[in-house]
Amino acid sequence: MSKKLRFVLNYCDISIRLVTMHMIWLLLLVFGPFPAQAGDEVVIYSSRNEQLIKPIFEMFQKETGIEVTVRTDKAGALIQRLISEGRRTPADILLTVDAGNLWLAKSKNLLASVDSKKLETHIPDHLRDPDNQWFGFSMRARTLVYNKNKVSPSDLAGYEDLAGAAWKGKLLLRTSKKVYNQSLVAMLIAEHGEEKAEKIVSGWIANLAAPVFSNDTRLIEALASGTGSVGIVNTYYLGRLIRDNPDLPVAPYFPDASEGGTHVNVSGGALLRHAKHKDTALRLMEWLITPKAQEAFAKANLEYPVRKDIARDPIVASWGPLVQNKMNLDRAGELQARAIKLMDRVGYR
Ligand code: FE
Repeated sequence: MSKKLRFVLNYCDISIRLVTMHMIWLLLLVFGPFPAQAGDEVVIYSSRNEQLIKPIFEMFQKETGIEVTVRTDKAGALIQRLISEGRRTPADILLTVDAGNLWLAKSKNLLASVDSKKLETHIPDHLRDPDNQWFGFSMRARTLVYNKNKVSPSDLAGYEDLAGAAWKGKLLLRTSKKVYNQSLVAMLIAEHGEEKAEKIVSGWIANLAAPVFSNDTRLIEALASGTGSVGIVNTYYLGRLIRDNPDLPVAPYFPDASEGGTHVNVSGGALLRHAKHKDTALRLMEWLITPKAQEAFAKANLEYPVRKDIARDPIVASWGPLVQNKMNLDRAGELQARAIKLMDRVGYR
């Protein structure tokens, strides 16, 4: 076989392949790559700890016969995966923590609006997206914690007060790299305006008792062992430590209405734009706000149910009432970039 012929043959071969590929692409364009299936299943991309959520989805699967597949990864990685998978994604629901992450998924055009009276009735406005593209299924409080041997609750007066001279060398904070603090600072900007928020955060940095911590648990442990007097954390981390050691000398403090209320955030979920099982996905989302699921979902991580009529875990209940700051959490996403810049400006590492 001459070189030329081989080339032609190869060329023919390539042409046939190209034509076949184009025909497949054309078919895909016309009929869609994966037509919606009617199968009773739902696929969840979840950044939540598998151990925490597994029993809840087992409950749903047992009750409805709908098969639940959960793929776990970090929130950022799941969002990247959804972007690169596009309409080929097998995922129906994104489940993650912090409105900042849910807002990011929305801003990347990954989510679908959900029209559900049940979700709208039971989830307060400030804990869901104004376009109903994401919903909080449990609520977490990011609030003050203090060492009971050093501080009395009457010494405390909220987030802003922690910037005052009285707390010099006494404050503990987690790193600004964590979305929890980015959302908190974004909400401070929404509440006070950027100038005042910057004063508050730079006051915090001037009051630090130790370098910023990599996570809330380490911060609480340092506080318990005598470093600093007061800090800011999500309460479920404190709840876990108290569950293991009821004598831990650390208690939460919840700013009241006169102090602007307590900053809350959500663990939430969203229906994905390219979901293949929209009906079962919606069924799961609505199931998550039934009393039984609400109780289990919140208790699993010592969070607060979003529904008001559901009992809290005894540890959470022992902390007393919580006055929420009711600014809509989509502001946490909208102002996230400004919050990150602000924290950088004031030297919050
Ligand atoms: Fe957390």
